[in-house]
Amino acid sequence: MKLRTSKNIELIDITGMVKEAVSKSDVQDGICIISTRHTTTSIIVNENEAGLCEDILEFLARLVPKDAAYSHNRIDNNADAHLKAVILGCSESIPIVEGELVLGRWQSIFFAEFDGPRKRNFEITVLSQK
Ligand code: ZN
Repeated sequence: MKLRTSKNIELIDITGMVKEAVSKSDVQDGICIISTRHTTTSIIVNENEAGLCEDILEFLARLVPKDAAYSHNRIDNNADAHLKAVILGCSESIPIVEGELVLGRWQSIFFAEFDGPRKRNFEITVLSQK
């Protein structure tokens, strides 16, 4: 799946794209794996509430300040983006039951950008239990 991010750091709700891929797959029972190919992005599951999305990004900024003395910044000025991606991880796995993603009422799937804006790719892999 292709995505164009529009900010340096942002959370993009991709739940609809994932649900559509599961629906098109015709898998009734199985698992859906969402993964990113990039080293400065993450896939996470959490609540899509605007204030919370700001809180998550501000929390990560406090944990990983942009201007600390990182070794990687000697060759590429984005070590903070890599470190944020390390913390959040590059994939999520969600069960599929009766053709539907098993997500809680408040759970959404996000593509997290830490070094945008850029053109990005992520994968949706749908596996059948049978
Ligand atoms: Zn880098």
